Amino acid sequence: MAWNKEFECMSLDDLQRFQLKKLNETISWLYEKVPPYRKKLDDAGIKPEGIKSLEKMQELPFTVKADLTGNYPFGLCAVPLKEVVRLHASSGTTGKPVTGPYTADDLEQWTECMARLVWAAGVREEDIFQNAFGHGLFTGGMGHHQGATRIGCTVVPTSSGMTERQILLMKDFGTTAIGCTPSYALTIAERAEEIGMPVKDLRVRVGLFGAEPWTLAMRSEIEERMGIKATNNYGLTELGGPGVAFECVEARDGMHINEDHFIAEIIDPITLQPLPLGEKGELVLTAVQRRAMPLLRFRTKDITSLTREKCPCGRTLVKMGRIVGRTDDMLIINGVNVFPSQIESLLKDIPEVEIQYLIVVRKKKHLDELNLKVEARREVYEAGPEKIAEIAKKIDDYIKGIMGIRVLVELAAPKTLKRSEGKAVRVIDERPK
Ligand code: ADP
Ligand code: ZN
Repeated sequence: MAWNKEFECMSLDDLQRFQLKKLNETISWLYEKVPPYRKKLDDAGIKPEGIKSLEKMQELPFTVKADLTGNYPFGLCAVPLKEVVRLHASSGTTGKPVTGPYTADDLEQWTECMARLVWAAGVREEDIFQNAFGHGLFTGGMGHHQGATRIGCTVVPTSSGMTERQILLMKDFGTTAIGCTPSYALTIAERAEEIGMPVKDLRVRVGLFGAEPWTLAMRSEIEERMGIKATNNYGLTELGGPGVAFECVEARDGMHINEDHFIAEIIDPITLQPLPLGEKGELVLTAVQRRAMPLLRFRTKDITSLTREKCPCGRTLVKMGRIVGRTDDMLIINGVNVFPSQIESLLKDIPEVEIQYLIVVRKKKHLDELNLKVEARREVYEAGPEKIAEIAKKIDDYIKGIMGIRVLVELAAPKTLKRSEGKAVRVIDERPK
């Protein structure tokens, strides 16, 4: 059983006492072992023994991605490499990769956090769990593997890609739970329909999805097409990968944060001041049980809010809402702030198109131009140019009405946009930097 009742249902008082103790151990550890942190702590006037209460969290220095890339590969590693038993790395699409080192203890903690996640999604010993997250440097595959193995279900490590084979195995092995990115889930659903083996008709009943932004619209699309319940989970390489937060299948309305491992705060990304529960801002996370590379107040750039309410599942762990976007993928279109997720949610209201889209932003003279390529459903496309133009205009008007921006909509032919096997690329910004 991987339901850690002691920690997942702890009272707030006990939890905060535990967090403070672990946080101070981490501060001392960093002070002693990691010179760049010693300097940060000295500059902030923090003593190696730590802080007196969690209210003083705000006095601790932040850590940002540049601290990691600037100290690449091992500058923030707190243990000699001989104590490191695993190295992961983020994909590094935006420059140098980020290193994720783990001691044997860190791996154990990660497995514990992941087992809680898999269990909370309702996966049990008798389940067949098909793990279609990429196995390798990316933390998604190995993380889910460890957690699901701990539960004792039957793990099928397909990794991502080779979609038809995924579907055949799903059928032959009687897969009941699947893990992958939400965009890949949609790719699988679509392919399965094409080969006449809709996932709906198979035994899969639950999906463990995460690692990229997705909207409620996308969730209902996946649920309808696959005939499953979809849960959301969150993590990042800097904090050890997935397992930071997970949805319980009972509520599916926010992700419980493993708070005995990660202290979560929400700050205003401009003033850097903490925001109260319920308010949206940038998620900041402190890892208090890791040893190879614990981070203090890591600014994730992910925008969400926290709520602490009684959950039907019985967990007391705080919940983070669905990520609405990242501070660095918010597009400013002629002065209006636009998140790709807003556009994605609106597409669900247009029955003539699929949720397969690509946003390309260009500069035309002095104005920003947002081009939205979205895939038409086959009947619509085959109805001819007039119908296509009518739907494109309908989408433009709808987006304009709700978001106040004009969008140049192009309806693409069915199955022409690139399908995702991992993290989907939804935005290309071609404006000069
Ligand atoms: P990379 O930086 O190479 O993409 P990571 O896997 O570390 O590698 O990416 C972590 C980021 O992925 C998070 O900071 C967040 O922006 C995004 N992410 C992860 N899980 C979710 C989720 N459930 N919902 C939305 N975004 C997510
Ligand atoms: Zn819950």
